[in-house]
Amino acid sequence: MDQTIADDIVDRTSAGLCAFLDASPTPFHACAAAAALLESAGFVRLDERDRWPAAPGAYYLIRGGSLIAWRTGDSTDPAAPFRVIGAHTDSPGLRIKPNPDLAREGWQQLGVEVYGGPLLASWMDRDLGLSGRVAVRDGTGSSTRLLTVAEPLLRVSELAIHLNRGVNTEGLVLNPQLHLAPHWGLGGTPGDLRAFLADRLSVGRGDVLGWDLMAYDITPARRIGVDRALVASARLDNQATCYAGVGALIRTSPSSGRQLLALFDHEEVGSVSERGAQSTLLATTVERIVLAAGGDREDLLRALAGTIIASGDMAHATHPNYPDKHEPNHRIAMNGGPVLKINNQLRYATDAVGAAAFELACEQAGVPVQRFVIRSDLPCGSTVGPITSALTGATTVDFGAPTLSMHSIRELCGAADQVMYADALTAFLTPR
Ligand code: ZN
Repeated sequence: MDQTIADDIVDRTSAGLCAFLDASPTPFHACAAAAALLESAGFVRLDERDRWPAAPGAYYLIRGGSLIAWRTGDSTDPAAPFRVIGAHTDSPGLRIKPNPDLAREGWQQLGVEVYGGPLLASWMDRDLGLSGRVAVRDGTGSSTRLLTVAEPLLRVSELAIHLNRGVNTEGLVLNPQLHLAPHWGLGGTPGDLRAFLADRLSVGRGDVLGWDLMAYDITPARRIGVDRALVASARLDNQATCYAGVGALIRTSPSSGRQLLALFDHEEVGSVSERGAQSTLLATTVERIVLAAGGDREDLLRALAGTIIASGDMAHATHPNYPDKHEPNHRIAMNGGPVLKINNQLRYATDAVGAAAFELACEQAGVPVQRFVIRSDLPCGSTVGPITSALTGATTVDFGAPTLSMHSIRELCGAADQVMYADALTAFLTPR
């Protein structure tokens, strides 16, 4: 689409990113925020239960906390290959248990379970809101409602240093069962979260049938630093890539071939679910796109053989206070450009062919490339890249944007990096 119009819809700068992050306290909200941007750009939502249109166009679907969007392209060849951007919508944190109400020592608390691998210490003493989706009675069945309580509702209070003298030298040790329950009120009897939710949703208490609810930091995303060169926010891993990917897809044109954006839930807990990267979601969506275009299974396999997937997830910038934690010949600078991620244990899917596709995209976009490997004496994190690569057989490259404090409740990235990231992804979807 016209670049000016596209930039109006998806602001490439950090202002747009911050608005997206603030609108996305949960994977469900991230999908809704992405959908709103896609709708503004003319993408049409499809229902997986319907027969999909044969007409070429721009479409998307949402399955829980996952979203897939695509352009079918102008080509009439049902075996035309795809350019795919993959990312994940979920972030580590604290989620509400099904029987959450607790009363301890005159405090009303909510029982929480740890989701993924958060830096738990960063969750202490924050003003936390509550967000997610709630299943409510709907006739004889149920439907889900998004809920955000953007108020200082919950807090996990840390023990005073006077009662924990070694904390600064020995580190903060937190037992997830004993030490993480946020308090939200005072009183000798438990509160009633179900009644609270019913009130917020204007339904009866007995009509609240289930929830996927999580605590989140209500502090808005914002620029920081002496020249405001940085962005501090929750969930940069990996909603920064979600936002850059949505923008890239919107900025491309139908004549550029088949392009697809896959935003997966559940990456932080292993990706095995009906909508995670290990599900059939991506494979069946691609198959249905090929079938809707009049292709057959042979066309699908031919399309996948030529497909390239760019798996975006945040990358570790070199930390000024811990330089020895980083590989000395692969320093990653904040605002130094997108980061190609390589790991020979295949925690990242990148190989020479995938790397070349990404290097060419950055060259086309006119942005520098940085190259990351973990120190040889440290284990490496992973992404959806190796999973989607194995399930589709498509060439895959892992890359990211420089980040500090990954998995903290308040992560940090570079403002200029976000523009370069968006430009690199746009070029990846539209190779010359
Ligand atoms: Zn991630």
